[in-house]
Amino acid sequence: MSLSGKTAIITGSNSGIGLGIARELAKAGADVVLNSFTDRDEDHALAAEIGQETGTNARYIKADMSKGDECRALIEKAGACDILVNNAGIQHVAPIDQFPTDKWDAIIAINMNSAFHTTAAALPMMRKAGWGRVVNIASAHGLTASPFKAAYIAAKHGVVGMTKTVALETAQEPITCNAICPGYVLTPLVEEQIPNTMKEYDMSREDVVKNVLLKRQPSKEFATVEQLGGTTIFLCSDAAAQITGTTISVDGGWTAL
Ligand code: NAD
Repeated sequence: MSLSGKTAIITGSNSGIGLGIARELAKAGADVVLNSFTDRDEDHALAAEIGQETGTNARYIKADMSKGDECRALIEKAGACDILVNNAGIQHVAPIDQFPTDKWDAIIAINMNSAFHTTAAALPMMRKAGWGRVVNIASAHGLTASPFKAAYIAAKHGVVGMTKTVALETAQEPITCNAICPGYVLTPLVEEQIPNTMKEYDMSREDVVKNVLLKRQPSKEFATVEQLGGTTIFLCSDAAAQITGTTISVDGGWTAL
């Protein structure tokens, strides 16, 4: 599958799943645009490294996905968008009656509203190019719930709903919109949750991984960023041209329970 000649924008991609997907898309020949809210030398160096390794044009564009105008500016600055991967996301864990309002607002803005703004800005470019793929990185928490993650779960369910609507609005065009719903993937977002959980339950790291994080993941293995990259590439392939408005779980059986 060659994605040569396509430009892919991956939001929140200087780390974790976004970076993994960007690497796989570049390996498949796509020109990639990496993004986060920072503008450090290392962010640009990361894009340069991917470009060098894959012989593609890889760029880094700073844009804060908590701000609607910056989401839209990211797409405009990239100048083309054949593949849009809405991936930027943050987490905060607290009971709903203690959930800080600023954290709620930030999670809804970054994890959900950003996908509205980037998709709205990207669709005209896809229509002009006569081809497009929107891939939203939702979560098993876009399909099920867990306690203490109200904002994250509300945002991810919202993304799944938006995915269906965008699919219906583009159904008669060569554009698809789908959501990938990963179970746990060992990235900085998940690493951050480990020390607090160890403290809260007085558990070892190994116990937290096995009995808390992977408790609902029947495979008892983390999904990997490479697998999510591969799933994204499949959704960009001709074989997936009639797959739209759906969710693909990459969760070791979590949602089969
Ligand atoms: P991560 O913390 O490694 O990566 C998050 C990315 O988002 C980083 O590149 C970060 O810089 C970026 N980001 C954060 N705030 C931003 C902002 N305001 N503007 C632009 N970029 C911003 O986390 P991850 O685990 O790779 O998560 C990526 C996505 O996958 C998220 O949407 C997350 O909800 C989802 N997800 C993760 C898991 C998991 O187990 N790791 C499971 C299901 C879904």
